[in-house]
Amino acid sequence: MAKNMPKEVKPSAARVNQVWSATVVTLFPGMFPGSLGQSLAGKALDDGVWSINTVDIRDFAADNKQTVDDAPFGGGAGMVMRADVIDAALFSVNKSNKLPLIYVTPRGKPLTQARVKELAASPGVILLCGRYEGIDNRVIDAWAIEEVSLGDFVLSGGEPAAVALIDACVRLLPGVIGNKLASVEESFEGGLLEYPHYTRPRDWDGREVPEILLSGHHEKVKDWRQTQAEHITRERRPDLWEKYNIKHEAKLNKH
Ligand code: SAM
Repeated sequence: MAKNMPKEVKPSAARVNQVWSATVVTLFPGMFPGSLGQSLAGKALDDGVWSINTVDIRDFAADNKQTVDDAPFGGGAGMVMRADVIDAALFSVNKSNKLPLIYVTPRGKPLTQARVKELAASPGVILLCGRYEGIDNRVIDAWAIEEVSLGDFVLSGGEPAAVALIDACVRLLPGVIGNKLASVEESFEGGLLEYPHYTRPRDWDGREVPEILLSGHHEKVKDWRQTQAEHITRERRPDLWEKYNIKHEAKLNKH
């Protein structure tokens, strides 16, 4: 029996059947909800739009020392999280609702807004956070765990990646963002990065807001934003720009 039962931030009873749930399997349950308890995600958590549980991997160690890792077979630096311990931790999570099970790792497929949308549309997600050199591959194979990366850099643990993934999903849950258009016009929607934004004052430190945005001419503003989005995407993300052009050309050829 686990020493510490999974901690749960309870949703309000009225929403109990609809809440999107995040379960985080981690060596550091104290890191949750962390920043997810603030701002938009925090308010949605308080309102019972979503819930978060943590499962403490250390509770599933078999020995008195609560060992969760061991030296890698084949040698090399660092330690590896044990398959038997992770397996027991995953068994403790109720899998009857078939939530997507994800290991956050730099070796995974890069997380995309398209995948975030799918995850936000599912009833929730189970996230496995690695530490040390990562997790014994056999448990990843045995559970057919999806591997997802936050980007081409190495974090010291999966927890910040889990926080980022949950945040990206929660903001898409119904009612979390007040203005629906805000998420429709964002980066990656339509395949481009977003155009630049400006607000008051009109003149800041000698820098003026682009004249067109003050014209009140909606069509011209729309065109300017589209051109800016294309320019920024072409410069910063040639990979996205190429995909955008292929899609665009295919659309034009259809008509
Ligand atoms: N040895 C691993 C490698 O080279 O791929 C890196 C291990 S890292 C120090 C420890 C843990 O942090 C990983 O198991 C993973 O859960 C998490 N992590 C690190 N970078 C990440 C990234 N870019 N995306 C998602 N998770 C990451």
